[in-house]
Amino acid sequence: MPGPGGSGLRAPGSGGTPTQAAPTILDVPPSGSTSAPRSRASASPGAGSSTDRTADVLVVGGGPAGSSCAFWLADAGWDVVVVEKKRFPREKTCGDGLTPRSVRQIEDMGLGAALSGAHRYDGLRSVAYGKVLELPWPEHPSFPSYGYVITRHDLDQLVAERATKAGATVLQGAEAVEAILDTPAASGAAAGTGRLPRCTGAVVRDTASGATTTVRARYVVLADGANSRLGRAMGTSRNRDWPLGLALRGYYRSPRHDDPFIESHLDIRDASGTVIPGYGWIFPMGDGRVNVGVGVLSAEGRWRGVNTSRLMDAFIAHAPASWGLSPETACGQPTGGKLPMGLAVAPRVGPTVLAVGDAAGSINPFNGEGIAYGYETGRLAASVLGRALAGEGDGALDDYERRLQDTYGLYYRVARDFVRLISHPRLMQVCVGTGMHSRSLMALLLRIMANLLRPEEIGAAEAIYGVLAAVAKVGPGT
Ligand SMILES: Cc1cc2nc3c(=O)[nH]c(=O)nc-3n(C[C@H](O)[C@H](O)[C@H](O)COP(=O)(O)OP(=O)(O)OC[C@H]3O[C@@H](n4cnc5c(N)ncnc54)[C@H](O)[C@@H]3O)c2cc1C
Repeated sequence: MPGPGGSGLRAPGSGGTPTQAAPTILDVPPSGSTSAPRSRASASPGAGSSTDRTADVLVVGGGPAGSSCAFWLADAGWDVVVVEKKRFPREKTCGDGLTPRSVRQIEDMGLGAALSGAHRYDGLRSVAYGKVLELPWPEHPSFPSYGYVITRHDLDQLVAERATKAGATVLQGAEAVEAILDTPAASGAAAGTGRLPRCTGAVVRDTASGATTTVRARYVVLADGANSRLGRAMGTSRNRDWPLGLALRGYYRSPRHDDPFIESHLDIRDASGTVIPGYGWIFPMGDGRVNVGVGVLSAEGRWRGVNTSRLMDAFIAHAPASWGLSPETACGQPTGGKLPMGLAVAPRVGPTVLAVGDAAGSINPFNGEGIAYGYETGRLAASVLGRALAGEGDGALDDYERRLQDTYGLYYRVARDFVRLISHPRLMQVCVGTGMHSRSLMALLLRIMANLLRPEEIGAAEAIYGVLAAVAKVGPGT
């Protein structure tokens, strides 16, 4: 695993054309005050105590984005406190699918071996209109050609423990209930400046005892997920003209629980039989169960009111019988959530605050993947905060937005255009129907949609993406 200086990993699928060199985003300047990471035990916030805690950085939320940010900062020797309102291990509604992009980040954090107990899979099986295509993950210079399926119950605990081991203090059962702002009146996107307000910590409530403490920090990271209550209180909002994902998932016992491919059905239908923009998935867990879900992409107001429970019932009823899905094999009631995507949530930067992961709307609109982008944006934030702490000061934080745009800006614009296109049922049908006739076309699309383009070379996928990006660039600019 790389040292505090980072791996120098380049961010594929970067904002420019595929041949444009992507920025190196990941160095976290080390803390001069310590030569080795400080080790602290994971703790509860201290029931009944009102003692202040101070830190270089306070991270609100211990999901993929928060824990990755905390790991990279702590690994570089900075004093980091994470507050997580739940206690690990905890459930999180998710498809539990890790693509090669996620695996790369997990391996970079030194957790490759820890994944060995999870179900490793080789690629994606696409199913639509009676056709089936098995598409192995492509070879790539920066990413492995395999993925994993692992419950968030287990995964998020692993990463939070890794951050703790690197020296971060992870306070569990600790909810940030109020941001400490320099001038409270300035909240609400800093009263129209398009920036988050200056924030120097949070009031933290022990969820067991109700006692509150304060954690004060030079910098604060909002990693509080899709609902992002603290973010909203500080003025973030989601651009409602941009696509939003809605998804529901449940676990089922299945004889094919260790299938080597994750499966995606691209022709899910509503009650009237109309094909819906989105997909149904069956992800083998390797532990006797499969994770089954439906996801809908809502754009320009279309499909916002779709009933995902009914879609799920229909999907279960029509899924291939070999999976053995039925109400009898269900392991419980399905649960759902929103997927803020395409960097739809803003502002993401203030003088002392950064928003990461779902709190920044960083999910990939092409495929609904958010774990990798949580890890990546958390790591990107860590690199910028490390620079700020190492001497550059608050100004370094402005670089976060620029790097987000360099890394994801144009790619997400292309993805948003794609989602708008397929939200028209007829166009969705034409796109999927055409794709399913050509294995090689679907393999190229998989590379584009999973953000596994090779920035240094022009293959067919890169060429297609280049055309789409050129079209997006001259489009209306949303
Ligand atoms: C149904 C569904 C299926 C999905 N499937 C996949 C998939 O298969 N693969 C994939 O890559 N992505 C998937 N996603 C997306 C993925 O789950 C998210 O993008 C990812 O969890 C984002 O990570 P995060 O750290 O930003 O937020 P979260 O994972 O939501 O973590 C936020 C954390 O902050 C904590 N928190 C919130 N508020 C506070 C507070 N005030 N104080 C303290 N703690 C707080 C929460 O308890 C939580 O632990 C799916 C999403 C849904 C809804």
